[in-house]
Amino acid sequence: MIHFSNVTKRYPNGFEALDEVSFHIDKAEMVFLTGHSGAGKSTLLKMIPLIERPSAGQVIIDEKHLGRVKRRQIPALRRDIGIIFQDSKLLNDRNVFDNVALPLLVSGEHHPREVGRRVRAALDKVGLLNRENDYPISLSGGERQRVGIARAVVNRPKVLIADEPTGNLDPVLSKEIMSLFEQFNQVGVTVLIASHDLELIGRMKKRMMVLKKGRLLADDGGGLGVKQTG
Ligand code: ADP
Repeated sequence: MIHFSNVTKRYPNGFEALDEVSFHIDKAEMVFLTGHSGAGKSTLLKMIPLIERPSAGQVIIDEKHLGRVKRRQIPALRRDIGIIFQDSKLLNDRNVFDNVALPLLVSGEHHPREVGRRVRAALDKVGLLNRENDYPISLSGGERQRVGIARAVVNRPKVLIADEPTGNLDPVLSKEIMSLFEQFNQVGVTVLIASHDLELIGRMKKRMMVLKKGRLLADDGGGLGVKQTG
């Protein structure tokens, strides 16, 4: 589902954030990406919805070679990829319903009954059905992140990527958020989560990839023993 082959990323200022990174993630796998701040985790995630393009190497998502994707095809590609950020990035001047509805409207779904049905289904999955009229300011950090997840899944993506989704949350809320990711994974969504919280990742018992200074240092392939890759 997610395939990187010798991916190198050099930013315009010459900084090399990724150095020949290769890995494969199967459909319906759940994988953690870890490493110190600055290791290249965000850069790697940004390649998947084409927020950034590689300087060299290949990224293939769901059998699509991203190097061949034209600018006008990017919105369709992004519909299959849900993105969750550390700070949830909700719009404060819109209520919960409208925040979650946004990706549907962007992708051309305007029929009110369908929008309502899909938004409520997404809010139900994250346990926030009763908060649709509330504004982000009235939600706790954990609730805001749940809304962020509802927004990411409202288009029923095949892939979920999350960049430090529990970075602002305490351990109890972090665990709840991880359980939500597990639930989506269990129904077939491929999940890739960047986090530097090794304690939390350790408890999840999933495959872990380690980045160090832009190189993939280790990939344990799902608890099969750490394979040194570089
Ligand atoms: P992480 O998510 O692991 O903290 P990042 O992918 O954000 O790492 O950053 C990796 C490195 O690339 C850092 O040294 C960062 O400063 C650099 N970097 C990130 N974005 C840019 C950019 N747009 N231009 C130049 N350098 C960048």
